[in-house]
Amino acid sequence: MNCECFDVLVVGGGLVGASLALALSRHGRRVGLIEGQQPPRDGLADTNDWDPRVYAVSPANRAFLDSLNAWPDMSRIGTVSAMDVRGDGNGRIAFSAADAGQPALAWIAENRWMLATLWQQLAQSNACCITGVRPLSVSHHPRHVSLSLDDGRTLNTRLLVGADGANSWIRQQTSIHVAVSPYGHSGVVANFVAEHDHGNIARQWFLGDGILAWLPLPERRISIVWSTATPDALTRLSADELCATVAKAGGQALGQLHCLTPAQAFPLRLMRPDSVIAPRIALVGDAAHTVHPLAGQGVNLGFGDAQALAALLASHTGDAGDLLLLRRYQRMRREAVNTMQLTCDGLFKLFHTRDPLLGWLRNTGLSLTQHLPLVKRQLARQAIGF
Ligand SMILES: Cc1cc2nc3c(=O)[nH]c(=O)nc-3n(C[C@H](O)[C@H](O)[C@H](O)COP(=O)(O)OP(=O)(O)OC[C@H]3O[C@@H](n4cnc5c(N)ncnc54)[C@H](O)[C@@H]3O)c2cc1C
Repeated sequence: MNCECFDVLVVGGGLVGASLALALSRHGRRVGLIEGQQPPRDGLADTNDWDPRVYAVSPANRAFLDSLNAWPDMSRIGTVSAMDVRGDGNGRIAFSAADAGQPALAWIAENRWMLATLWQQLAQSNACCITGVRPLSVSHHPRHVSLSLDDGRTLNTRLLVGADGANSWIRQQTSIHVAVSPYGHSGVVANFVAEHDHGNIARQWFLGDGILAWLPLPERRISIVWSTATPDALTRLSADELCATVAKAGGQALGQLHCLTPAQAFPLRLMRPDSVIAPRIALVGDAAHTVHPLAGQGVNLGFGDAQALAALLASHTGDAGDLLLLRRYQRMRREAVNTMQLTCDGLFKLFHTRDPLLGWLRNTGLSLTQHLPLVKRQLARQAIGF
């Protein structure tokens, strides 16, 4: 393929950009993918190494990755058959995939293995992948955009897609304004082996000063995401202290824990750009939105963007940068993204208020919901991504 002139040029080969480029190549589009780093094509070598960056992938998005032949080997995947969520008082709700008539609520997959699987498929596709380079400037022309790279090349494309993460360089080249609200929390992630079987249950505690999730991985492994205002208090602990602290915060639900990886912290913020399109430019994934990870939906929203944009471009044989098409993409994604951002933000605030009345309400609400089968079924369907 001529690697200088594209229908679509995607900048950022993380999970969202890589899946979009692969989907577009399968639809026969002339697609290029620029990634600043060397992708983990060989990341599958050490099977004892478990990536602490894991994602709860919805069944809808698993089906998307399956359709691209890019779903990782099941020996690396945890199954979420049920969720058990506890408030900071006596509130508790549990719901299962069976409530929604499905085999699983979500699958827990490692970032590195999903990425490596996507990049292996890209290597066999028609997509032109350029790695280890960064863009330097964008210039607009009537029928295309030119992107100059730091290796001296200039690439032309009908549509430029920013899949380059929350600090998107592509977004910064537009006049799109972004509202940023830091949560004052970081997400601390780490992997453990538990003493007892997790039973494929994802557990979550709203602790008052933080939110802790235990996600099931194969066998007795779990991965945690702990949203906390004091991440250093966790990342500075010795392995034994970390295990004891995490086990205690979860009420020893799985007995003693043994550390598989050190803790890493990621600052959390809500980012809401006032648009996800500009002339001949579209944003996808974290470049287009970030959410609090309490519902594990960030990359799921991004896969939703990739699916929507790929489907629109598959059904449109003309100019891939057509502004009417980009407006349709923006409309298609607005409701799902807004709803998820507002829901996660609302839950975060509800569980962080010190108001005693709201404290009583949120715990009572959780417990009441536990006794409402229709609402529980709806929650299960929501988790699945219907
Ligand atoms: C603690 C935590 C837990 C989370 N848990 C979940 C979960 O359970 N489920 C879920 O759905 N989501 C979860 N998320 C959200 C998820 O991590 C993000 O939504 C997802 O990683 C975004 O993917 P992306 O491909 O859009 O961006 P990124 O993963 O940030 O990828 C961007 C890519 O672009 C490249 N890049 C950046 N700038 C340039 C440039 N200038 N030139 C070339 N390349 C560039 C980068 O190298 C990178 O490869 C979590 C987030 C956090 C912080």
